[in-house]
Amino acid sequence: AAKGSGRDRIHLFSPGLRDAARWRLEVANALRDGAQDQLVVHYQPVVRMDTGAIDGVEALLRWQHPERGLLSPDAFLSVAEETGQLIPITRWLLGETTRQAAEWASRGLALRMSVNISARHFSAETLVRDVRVALHDSGLAPDQLILELTETSVAEDPTRAEDQLSVLRNSGVRVAIDDFGTGWSSLAQLMALPIGTLKIDRSLLTAAQRLASGGQGAVLAAIVALTRTLGIRSVAEGVETAEHLQMVRDAGCDLAQGYLLARPMPASEIWGWVGRVEA
Ligand code: C2E
Ligand code: CA
Ligand code: CA
Ligand code: CA
Repeated sequence: AAKGSGRDRIHLFSPGLRDAARWRLEVANALRDGAQDQLVVHYQPVVRMDTGAIDGVEALLRWQHPERGLLSPDAFLSVAEETGQLIPITRWLLGETTRQAAEWASRGLALRMSVNISARHFSAETLVRDVRVALHDSGLAPDQLILELTETSVAEDPTRAEDQLSVLRNSGVRVAIDDFGTGWSSLAQLMALPIGTLKIDRSLLTAAQRLASGGQGAVLAAIVALTRTLGIRSVAEGVETAEHLQMVRDAGCDLAQGYLLARPMPASEIWGWVGRVEA
């Protein structure tokens, strides 16, 4: 547990409910007036369970607000989505993250780069072009880029989703289903889609823990077994404790992500983190 300067544990601002309406207005105005320049990306390592080595990172947005400090995405993403700003922001983010991944790769650190894509962007015509432009400009190998989609954005219109996923797959990028277990889509339905990775929501770890007295994370193990049969990689999200990590190991998850392993951090700290872990 480093006390690292840029670590984002310190003060992620979230407005109280009482001020929610005023806050939304403030965010909408700021985004319109160019607050995009204040957006920063933090990266959270995703770790292989077999070797303990880093496999990739997930890019997570923060807003370096001049008065309020570092803002969590929960404080501004829904407003950005409503005002139509999230697509241009994500376009910028795709450029930034693919450039960063290509730069790490050129220094000998090849990491898969995961980027979150909103439901609206997923159903927009522009996504495929945005991805291709980012790959072209950065020179990053397409299979190093993973687009994270939530189950709901895929489940909304399965036929359309399948088409869009095929087009994306043809550009060589990979797709992950995010937050699995928070919606009600059937695993069988999701698995019929061309996806490479299933990210299991942290709520399942907590549920598994509750069952642990008899079930020993049986639900988690069953999901992981199914992904394995289908050749899909599984990631356990929200690994916070040694017990979680043991459960994830017992279930046979391929990869894990969580505060126990590493917090999200600025790009400049990733290099040091990898060196420390692999030393
Ligand atoms: P997510 O995609 O599920 O990302 C994982 C979230 O869990 C991150 O929160 C991360 O900091 C947090 N986390 C990681 N490990 C742990 C842990 O061990 N325990 C707990 N309690 N939390 C952990 P963050 O950065 O606040 O992001 C929240 C959500 O905002 C993300 O959830 C994602 O849905 C959304 N988001 C973030 N960046 C972007 C973006 O660039 N585009 C879009 N569309 N959504 C984004
Ligand atoms: Ca995600
Ligand atoms: Ca997630
Ligand atoms: Ca989430």
